[in-house]
Amino acid sequence: MAATVFSKIIAREIPARIEYEDNLCLVFHDANPQAPFHLLIIPKEPIASLFDVEEKTASLLGHLVVVATRIAAQLGLSSGYRLVVNCGPDGGQSVDHLHLHLLGGRALHWPPG
Ligand code: AMP
Repeated sequence: MAATVFSKIIAREIPARIEYEDNLCLVFHDANPQAPFHLLIIPKEPIASLFDVEEKTASLLGHLVVVATRIAAQLGLSSGYRLVVNCGPDGGQSVDHLHLHLLGGRALHWPPG
């Protein structure tokens, strides 16, 4: 997979406001936040998108979700939040490194545009 802005953040080649890290994933604040809290949860393994997910990726994806819920709790998002994964051009994906958006801190509208 080609280097992306996110693989460069993992490699510390470009800066980010990192909130959490473990051996499988990195969590950092989105550079263009769409809510008072807007973080990105990314696997360190370079998976481009949901198009590339396989059965063997299932536990990693589960880990990303568990980490997201822990971060949401730490941020005090007790009245709710949203996890979003954009996939491909029609899904609005702009960075080809799989990521979960964690959005919270305000009431979010539905449906999205
Ligand atoms: P998506 O459109 O789902 O691919 O989301 C990509 C997200 O990455 C957008 O919300 C961007 O604001 C965010 N983003 C892009 N570059 C950076 C960066 N250098 N640091 C933090 N967030 C970034």
